[in-house]
Amino acid sequence: MDINWSEMNKEMQALLSKEATFRDGVGKLLELRGNLFEQVAQIVHTFPEEAFYQMPFAGADGYHSKTLAYSIWHIFRIEDIVAHEMIAEDRQVLFARDFDKSICSPIITTGNELSGDEIATFSKQLDVKELYRYAQEVKTSSDQMLKQLTYADLKCRFGEEMIAKLQNTGSVSENENANWLIPYWCEKDIRGLIKMPFSRHWIMHIEAMRRIKNRLCKTARKGVDPVAYCGLSCNHCFLAEWCGSCRTIYNTCSFATVSPDGICPNVKCCKGKGIDGCYECDSLESCEKGFYIPSNDGANAAKAQSLYIRKHGKKEFLKVHDRLHQKYDFSKTQEILGQDCREGLRILEEN
Ligand code: SF4
Ligand code: SF4
Repeated sequence: MDINWSEMNKEMQALLSKEATFRDGVGKLLELRGNLFEQVAQIVHTFPEEAFYQMPFAGADGYHSKTLAYSIWHIFRIEDIVAHEMIAEDRQVLFARDFDKSICSPIITTGNELSGDEIATFSKQLDVKELYRYAQEVKTSSDQMLKQLTYADLKCRFGEEMIAKLQNTGSVSENENANWLIPYWCEKDIRGLIKMPFSRHWIMHIEAMRRIKNRLCKTARKGVDPVAYCGLSCNHCFLAEWCGSCRTIYNTCSFATVSPDGICPNVKCCKGKGIDGCYECDSLESCEKGFYIPSNDGANAAKAQSLYIRKHGKKEFLKVHDRLHQKYDFSKTQEILGQDCREGLRILEEN
């Protein structure tokens, strides 16, 4: 489990267990959920449509054997059912806000009953933007509910009537891979539910989503020109585990993720000019676009690399990078090439 999330989870549980620290525990829980949701948001905002129904670990044993879309659906269907049918005893967000129609899901259940190709087929049918809106609304309504809970509420238990009520909603499949959920939830008190559907369950599935997206990026980069438009080397980039290269649709490099349209300004500009990369541009040295924005402390190191490619070509450039990485221990090129592009060029040429 991610060490930060695991620590926050432990701390949250310890705080919730005492009346004196209960409010701080709720605060920690909300902070953890906020951090986790940030990951979901980043994936939804930066990954291409096709990423949401790919199964790069199909057949594996574990949550990572699913798809990104399935993971989001499953996390928030479970939370919606538990938060609204069991704790708040009002309408599930799925029905109250018509997400059962707008997401285009063929099911209203948690999805536990789906397996293998059924998961990919199901995922392909979902409107991911609507699914994300659903996830946001479920999270918001649960956060509100969690803020209103009292320490005494944690001991609240559920009886036989709750089992029957949940069965009648049709929100959990009768399939043997799913029907254990209702007794599992109903044997817990609210404290137990907080420990699973509202926190740990998120951590498990969001970690699996990270594995899925990282594998998709790695696969996307195979056979693709490893020189980025801005002059960096994807083969040597510290972000390579998360980014599928700016030359593919899995471009999740930092400047793409912060751009409103998800496209790095350097990529957009090069494509507009019909050039292979910034190293072919006459404005390179004075450019302040995208990666070259003066506030980016890696701007001049990237320019130095582009200047090197312009003079010596990509093949030589990749060889210099190999040598630099053999010689020095660094993750970002500015640690070696500094803050002056001419000086950075000199260092590259000396290696
Ligand atoms: S962040 Fe840039 S250099 Fe790094 S892998 Fe992505 S596109 Fe390549
Ligand atoms: S203007 Fe800047 S971003 Fe555009 S191609 Fe030239 S160097 Fe790259």
